[in-house]
Amino acid sequence: MGNSPFWVTVGEHARGPRAGVLETAHGAVATPAFMPVGTHAAVRACHPDEVAATGAEMILANACHLALRPGAERIAALGGLHRFMGWDGPILTDSGGFQLVSLDRLSAVDDEGVVVRSPYDGHRLKLTPERAVAIQLELGADVCMALDHPVPFGADPAAAAAATRRTHAWAVRCRAVPADGHLVFGIVQGGFDPEARLASAAAVAACGFDGHALGGLVLGEPPPVRAAAIAAAIAGLPTGSVRYLMGLATDRDLLDAVAQGVDLFDCVLPTRLARTGVALTRSGRLALRRQAFADDPAPLEATCPCPACRRFSRAFLRHGFQAGEILVHRLLSLHNLQHLGTLMAEVREAIAAGAFDELRATRLAQLAAGAKAAGEHRPAPAYNGAPSPGGLRLPGPEEQRNA
Ligand SMILES: [Zn+2]
Repeated sequence: MGNSPFWVTVGEHARGPRAGVLETAHGAVATPAFMPVGTHAAVRACHPDEVAATGAEMILANACHLALRPGAERIAALGGLHRFMGWDGPILTDSGGFQLVSLDRLSAVDDEGVVVRSPYDGHRLKLTPERAVAIQLELGADVCMALDHPVPFGADPAAAAAATRRTHAWAVRCRAVPADGHLVFGIVQGGFDPEARLASAAAVAACGFDGHALGGLVLGEPPPVRAAAIAAAIAGLPTGSVRYLMGLATDRDLLDAVAQGVDLFDCVLPTRLARTGVALTRSGRLALRRQAFADDPAPLEATCPCPACRRFSRAFLRHGFQAGEILVHRLLSLHNLQHLGTLMAEVREAIAAGAFDELRATRLAQLAAGAKAAGEHRPAPAYNGAPSPGGLRLPGPEEQRNA
């Protein structure tokens, strides 16, 4: 395996918040880090330079979707994914295992692999573990993900156990693919039983991957169940290995996971919320369709350095959203990415200063104060928090990961 591509710079290796550096062929990534998602080789509506300006160092693209359209071979012939999408920093690609959940009506799985039917033209893509890694290598990803078989919360335990066994067999086959110069991460499954999570982490760790994802989470489970699964997985992984939690993006969830020792995150939530006119702020979510913003001259967030906040009022952004103006879609996307970029920068600074607990307490208090203020205007406040039946509808897994 050679030298580890990741090292911890501040904090305990085994547990608790930590800062580190992940070295890739296209540069280093300071962790904890949030990766914006460009499923189809673009972070929706955002120029790569603008995405980088929000503090993002690594972005995610979806190898399965790109293999279906426009084709990995075509992207390779055009100079590879970095050149194709105009991003010369690190890129991590998703393997296609998640499509088993998100495109479940369009996919079939057995021990050999996954067959995904294209939602674009109906043609079938067969992903064996070997092929899934080969496609990512062909794209030129800096970090390739192993093929895995996640199951949603509430799945039959026997089915979850079978999917986990399959994930382990696939992990061995993924790791056997020569990947010189590229990193390959394994994915821990194990459903929502901490013992099974721990065992899965140990099985995947035994393959000698360059890093590890905690897969099959953020699929409808309550936060305490997720926290127990995260703790069990971390306990079974090598302490110096980078830990990546897929599909998480609310401030509270990110702070909680960082507190447990997770290093990397991705989610489509910031850009997806932007398309529904929702801005992330330190006080919670601002839904711009609310009449209250029609006369509001303030920026979305006074301290935010993004292009939306530097120049435009909430009143303008609300008007533009109502009018279907694509400029506002773009500005809100950049603002939401900046919100998470700023959060993660503050997290890294706080960890370095030994003040993560204080930062977490402050940010959670700001969210609580925002929820209280919002509650004075409406009965069911919805903001950056756990799913609440009376609150804003949270997007489903497909929307979160692939919007
Ligand atoms: Zn902003």
